Amino acid sequence: MFELKFNQDLCYHCNTQACLTKCKFMDIDNATAKNEILKIVRGEDSFVLHECVTCYACEEYCPYGNHPFYLIVERQEALGITPQPLPLVKRAINISIPFRGEPEINEINGPVINLGAFSQLKNKIQGKLFDGLSIISSDERKMFHYFCQLMYLHYGKISLIKERLPNVISTITKHKPAEVICFHDECYGAYTSFCNAYGISVPFRPVHLFEYLFSRLIKLRDLIKPINIKVAYQRPCSSRLCPDKHLYVNRIFELIGAVLVKRQFSDENALCCGLTIQGQKKEGSRKRALEIQRKNIEDIEMAGAEVCVFNCPACFDTLSIKLKERNIIPTFMSDLCRISIGEISFNDIKMSG
Ligand code: SF4
Ligand code: SF4
Repeated sequence: MFELKFNQDLCYHCNTQACLTKCKFMDIDNATAKNEILKIVRGEDSFVLHECVTCYACEEYCPYGNHPFYLIVERQEALGITPQPLPLVKRAINISIPFRGEPEINEINGPVINLGAFSQLKNKIQGKLFDGLSIISSDERKMFHYFCQLMYLHYGKISLIKERLPNVISTITKHKPAEVICFHDECYGAYTSFCNAYGISVPFRPVHLFEYLFSRLIKLRDLIKPINIKVAYQRPCSSRLCPDKHLYVNRIFELIGAVLVKRQFSDENALCCGLTIQGQKKEGSRKRALEIQRKNIEDIEMAGAEVCVFNCPACFDTLSIKLKERNIIPTFMSDLCRISIGEISFNDIKMSG
């Protein structure tokens, strides 16, 4: 079984304990943070293991790349602490078993885009931006051969990821792709951050969707008409696993002439969408999730956004209706880019929902 590469000495000598002192869901001072992280390192119980809402952010907060969130999930599983109620965990485990039946394997020998579990979003990868790409994704029979499985971080089930992800990678590799563009950055985080942390080999080159879109837009630059509209960005938890790609939000917006509004909850200070919190078994979780959603929506509205761009389909589903109620158009980055090159309009997005 793959073991987490975690440098315990770093925690013993760390002066910041940023992993816990920066946590937006627990109020933890330095001394407490030091005490609790060292308990977690030693495999002892800590209130952090029970209070963590699994927002992934401490992976970004640790200045040494020491994977505190993966360690938290390791310890949750070892101590039988499941953030979600057991029936929900069981249902989630069974819902996306990747290897029921054999996928059809075609050699691609070129770039491929992986929709992972989101086969219903094929309409988000159309037009000139995606010319020449082959598509792999779960199919209509809900076969999850290409789903990275990282969502089990929210369920305290890290062993399941270690068990399934190598087989998912092996299935993708059989297509012989030159590179794999990840529609969802949770997949990108899986093939980069998670695989690095556990020494799982990835034989193909994973590419983050935003980096891909930026490079395509550069090639299609002559078609771009500045969209001149105020746009907010809702950063997802999975983006904490690849913070080096977050800069592409700004780069894309600058290129297409979108005005990125200044939010209180942005960049490192982002608030998750609350989806995974609302199902957690801790008392008051649903109320807490609704409060987080309210904060996000009000923040987007107060920043003056007319449009809100999402990276994660789950965040989109969670917040889009509430945004529409306030006349803010929710959309995906790929659609915003397609607007800038004249392939679709904001009206098309409003109509398609
Ligand atoms: S995980 Fe990182 S930030 Fe947290 S105590 Fe260890 S070294 Fe410091
Ligand atoms: S994952 Fe989020 S809630 Fe959990 S300890 Fe890390 S920063 Fe805090």
